[in-house]
Amino acid sequence: MNVVKVAIVGAGFSGMGAAIKLQQNGFEDFLIIDRGVDFGGTWRDNTYPGAACDVPSHLYSYSFELNPNWSRSFSKQAEIHAYINEVAAKYALARRTRFRTEVTHAEWDSAAGVWVIDVTHPDTGSAQVRAEILVGAIGPLCEPKLPDIEGIDSYRGQIFHSARWDHESDVTGKRVAVIGTGASAVQIIPELAPTVGHLDVYQRTAPWVLPRADRPYTAAEHWLFRNVPGAQRLSRSAIYWSHELVSFGLTYRPNALRPAQWAGALNIRRGISDPVKRAKVTPSFSVGCKRMLLSNTYYPALGRDNVDVVTDPIAKVTATGIVTRDGAHREVDAIVVATGFHVTDSPGFDHIVGREGKSLAQVWATDGMKAYKGAMVHGFPNMFLMIGPSTGLGHTSMVFMIESQLNYLVDYLRTVTSEQITRTEVRAERQRDYNERIQQTLGTSVWENGGCASWYKDSFGNITTLWPGFTFNFRRATRSFDLDAYDTARGSDRITIGATTA
Ligand code: NAP
Repeated sequence: MNVVKVAIVGAGFSGMGAAIKLQQNGFEDFLIIDRGVDFGGTWRDNTYPGAACDVPSHLYSYSFELNPNWSRSFSKQAEIHAYINEVAAKYALARRTRFRTEVTHAEWDSAAGVWVIDVTHPDTGSAQVRAEILVGAIGPLCEPKLPDIEGIDSYRGQIFHSARWDHESDVTGKRVAVIGTGASAVQIIPELAPTVGHLDVYQRTAPWVLPRADRPYTAAEHWLFRNVPGAQRLSRSAIYWSHELVSFGLTYRPNALRPAQWAGALNIRRGISDPVKRAKVTPSFSVGCKRMLLSNTYYPALGRDNVDVVTDPIAKVTATGIVTRDGAHREVDAIVVATGFHVTDSPGFDHIVGREGKSLAQVWATDGMKAYKGAMVHGFPNMFLMIGPSTGLGHTSMVFMIESQLNYLVDYLRTVTSEQITRTEVRAERQRDYNERIQQTLGTSVWENGGCASWYKDSFGNITTLWPGFTFNFRRATRSFDLDAYDTARGSDRITIGATTA
């Protein structure tokens, strides 16, 4: 059995960031656990053709590890993954990481005051790790969501999810279907369209796809970033503030986003000449309600003669193709399922069990996922979620949110260490008040009023995934650890919950 102060589950941007900050602040007793073979999380797993970030790399990177060498404004997956691995190597994180190790269950042991974490490894089998503090850094976009379509299991051709791209399958010259038109599909379709024989794009809801200001950095810019102190920070700040303006429209004044909608409409007109196809791909909701997508190549790809946009709902999948409700059967050699992720209903929530013997999934089943500052959940002592509920963004870099939470995590550890606190649990009323304020702020938002269905909402219709408003407000809220929001216990005391103990 392995006993550590902090167990970090997940070796993506947030888990690595947590490990680096712990290390830098003298908390060396930690272990990272990841089911994959490498660092990178979503940037390791999403290797589909065209995978790239839709936030500029100078902002979508750690502020403490700027990279002057980004080749272009919106880097591709391989470059981001390479950056992540360089950072991991610089901080020697591999020596404290167990790869190919999956957490099957994590349960708070009230008597011992530790998290008991069951793990399994394909070669060495099951084992247990005990940790005083559990940092859940599994990311919201890690569990592929397969569509619940009749007959999909009977399909005999190649079929795979966008986040599990099968590079052994060569679809060149073949008949291919892509189900979904979200952020992943919008990047995959332009790559596939020129190489496959025929492409059927199954679109349930047309997204807004805006022009992408993507370009390679020039040699002069690289020289500036490498040699002129502050040049890169200045560029990063300019990107940050220009993106922050968008959050004003998203949260408070959706009408202010109209220019983006015009740009999307122009993007359609430029990319597609066929009026029937144009009409099919024109969204019927306000821009920003679903994630705003960026591409200069998506509409031209849809406009190609070998690409059909199918808007009749899918009725079933057969052994050889897809049948739509109008009865048409389109045969294909391969199906790419680009249908997103389990975000508000992640299977991982079943495996984390708190103080009262209930899992996160059970606690959140009654009225949706809720946490305090996206990190702490009442009933789950000594657990810190990275980019948990209400921390997602529709307009800028998640790394900014991750680093905000890292400030909070480090100050939490400093505080409990200096105060000799062994158990910390957020008070129910503080968590409730915090979430009520978030829901109030969301009242004016485009996500609430824009006329769309999206994964931002849970099954209760509540937006529990997004941080509303400006990200600098989240930075301020997480600057320091507010001990008064927590019930605590010292030494071997039992944790004090209001007037009772547990
Ligand atoms: P997504 O945005 O959830 O899109 C899923 C797509 O599949 C939607 O078009 C959805 O239609 C469709 N769909 C789902 N179930 C379906 C069904 N049963 N039948 C037909 N269509 C179905 O997933 P994603 O594209 O993988 O993106 C997820 C998130 O990952 C993004 O929002 C973004 O945050 C992140 N991401 C970022 C990047 C980037 O930075 N470039 C790239 C990829 C992903 P509806 O719209 O009707 O639901």
